[in-house]
Amino acid sequence: STFVGASFGGIAELYAQIQKAIGATERVFELLDESPEKINPDYKGAQEKIKGNVTFKNVAFSYPTRQEVQVLKDVNFTAEFGQKIAIVGPSGAGKSTISSLLLRFYDITSGEITVDGKNIYDYDLENLRGNMSIVPQDVILFGGTIKENIAYGKPDATDEEIMQAAKQANAFNFVDGFPEKFETLVGERGVKLSGGQRQRIAIARALLKNPSILILDEATSSLDSESEKLVQEALEVLMDGRTSIIIAHRLSTIRNADKILVLDNGKISEEGTHQELINLENGIYKNLSNLQFSNS
Ligand code: ATP
Repeated sequence: STFVGASFGGIAELYAQIQKAIGATERVFELLDESPEKINPDYKGAQEKIKGNVTFKNVAFSYPTRQEVQVLKDVNFTAEFGQKIAIVGPSGAGKSTISSLLLRFYDITSGEITVDGKNIYDYDLENLRGNMSIVPQDVILFGGTIKENIAYGKPDATDEEIMQAAKQANAFNFVDGFPEKFETLVGERGVKLSGGQRQRIAIARALLKNPSILILDEATSSLDSESEKLVQEALEVLMDGRTSIIIAHRLSTIRNADKILVLDNGKISEEGTHQELINLENGIYKNLSNLQFSNS
C-alpha cells in the first residue's frame, strides 16, 4: 500500500479526503497526483493560527474533468468563529464539493472563499490545511498502530497527549481493552475496528491537531445506537470552540446547528436555524424534515 507508517506526516488529511472518493477512481488518481508541496513529509502543523471565520462569496465551480456541469453556481454563506454550520440537500447537490474547495483540493471557477477575511489562495497551503481537520464519512485508517494513527494530527505529540485525546474522543476504553493497547496494529494486517471505533480514532486525531476549522462529513450508514451515542458525544467535544461545517445526511444531528444551509441546484436556497426553516411554507428543509421524522 502507498500509505504506510506515520512518516508521511501531512498526507493524513489528504488520505482522509481520498477515502470518500474511493470508488471514484478518477478522483483518487487526481489526489494522488498532488504536487510535492501539497504532500509534505516534513509537515509540522499550522505555523500560524487561524481564527476560523469562513466566507463563500458567489462561488461557482465545475470539476476540471466535467467542465460542462456547473456543480456550484452561486454559493454564498458565512461561518463565524465557533459556529456550527450544517449543509443539507439532496444527494449530488454539491455538499462534499464545498468541503473540498475549502480544503483547496480544487480551484474555484469564480467568486471568492475567505478565511479570516483573507482569500484562501493567498494562504500558504500547508498552513491553511494545518488549521483544518476533516472527519470523513467512512474513516479508513492506515496500516500502523493506533497510536500512529492518532498522532497523525500532531507528529510530535507525547504519549500523554495521545491518551488524553483518545479519552476525550471516547476511544480510550476500547483501545485499552486490546492486549497491545495503543500499539495495536490496525488496517489489513491488524485488528478490524468497527465504523464507530474508526470514527472515534479520527476524532482523537482531530482533537490532537486542534484545528480552528472542522469539517464533518456525517456518516450515511447508521451505527448501532450505543456506538452512535459515543461518536456523537465525542463530536460535541471536538466541535466545541471551533468553526464546524457539518455535511449532514441525517437531520436529527443538526437540530442545534447555529445555521442550516440548504443546498439545491448549486445554490443555497434556504438558510436559518432548524426552527426558522421548519416554519418556511413549502420549504425544502421542511419537506425533508417531515419525510425523515415521519419515517423514524
Ligand atoms: P452526497 O450527499 O451523495 O454525498 P453531495 O451533495 O456531497 O452528495 P458532491 O459529492 O459534492 O455531492 O457531488 C456534486 C456533484 O459533483 C455530483 O454530480 C457528482 O457526481 C459530481 N462530482 C463529485 N466529485 C467529482 C469529481 N471528482 N469529478 C467530477 N464530478 C464530480
